[in-house]
Amino acid sequence: MRLAIAEINLQALAHNLAQVRQFAPNSKVMAVLKANAYGHGLVKIAQHLNDADAFAVARIDEALALRAGGLTKPIVLLEGFFHQDDLPILLANNFQTIIHDENQLRALENAKLDAPISCWLKINTGMHRLGVAPTQLNDFYQRLQATNNAKDTINLMTHFSSADDVNDPKTAEQIALFDSLVQGKQQAHCLANSAGIIAWPAGHGEWVRPGLMMYGVSPMLNTSGKDHQLKPVMRLTTKVIAIRDVDAAQGVGYGGSWQSTQPTKLAVVAMGYGDGYPRHAKHGTPVVIAGKRYGIAGNISMDMISVDIGENADGIKVGDEVVMWGPELPVEEIAQCADTISYELLCNIAPRVSYEYQR
Ligand SMILES: *Cc1c(COP(=O)(O)O)cnc(C)c1O
Repeated sequence: MRLAIAEINLQALAHNLAQVRQFAPNSKVMAVLKANAYGHGLVKIAQHLNDADAFAVARIDEALALRAGGLTKPIVLLEGFFHQDDLPILLANNFQTIIHDENQLRALENAKLDAPISCWLKINTGMHRLGVAPTQLNDFYQRLQATNNAKDTINLMTHFSSADDVNDPKTAEQIALFDSLVQGKQQAHCLANSAGIIAWPAGHGEWVRPGLMMYGVSPMLNTSGKDHQLKPVMRLTTKVIAIRDVDAAQGVGYGGSWQSTQPTKLAVVAMGYGDGYPRHAKHGTPVVIAGKRYGIAGNISMDMISVDIGENADGIKVGDEVVMWGPELPVEEIAQCADTISYELLCNIAPRVSYEYQR
């Protein structure tokens, strides 16, 4: 019997990519596949994104894994390269690079390359993570145009810090600053992550960069994917491995931090933080068994979780399927119960979980 399983619904993936096109009909799509495609499986997901115009990843290793998997679309490195010796690898594999600081630019200028590399100049418009300052932009831009190691077309990019909140004026300010800075520069512009795609149409440039929404999960505060016509791609399940009785006022699990107020039955399910389920999910965090919700009882262990199924146990038996998140139980809700974000839960799926890809 297989226990922890991540079912990956490839039709939902295709549906969500089509949704991206609905939201941003005039933009090309750079599908973001970093961190093992947000825990969904890098190469498998890429193979089912035929309709994307390019892929984007964070690290060169991720990009090389895509090439090793036979994928031929352009790949953008969202943090660029880290050493001058990386540049021939970029060239040989048709990787495009972000340029976000002086060290990268100088390395590019000084490299001996057989052909130019395609570059995206990243501008810091308020995220204050990567990107050149607005005051440095023209200098960087001119140097990139001058070097033979960069293709003539210098694309321009920025990243939003607060696009998940429609009431935060920050995103409109970032868009306005970006638009003013790139005026007169005809190259492709790329601003929007998933939240920008859904909520900030003024930030749809020639390119958009969807990550989370492709996996059917909402990037917007206090909503789930369904609210944006997205379909969850991952369904994380396991099985009941034991059912036990517990009396009132008996501490359950490590530290005995949960007690029932009355005699009840517990289903012990084969899932824990060793599978990537969040250790901080609080008592009462829902799971779904046979279409009904039950609350988690006690602390999450490495391999197991106890679930309060009530005194008459609703006919639940050993071997029954337990849904930890999926279409019937939004991962956004589990993230809230664990004081984190759905991005983290998806990325944290552990290697021992079995993946099943469903067409
Ligand atoms: C991760 C990332 C994205 C995708 O963000 P989502 O919120 O998952 O859509 C886009 N751009 C950059 C630079 C990123 O690092």
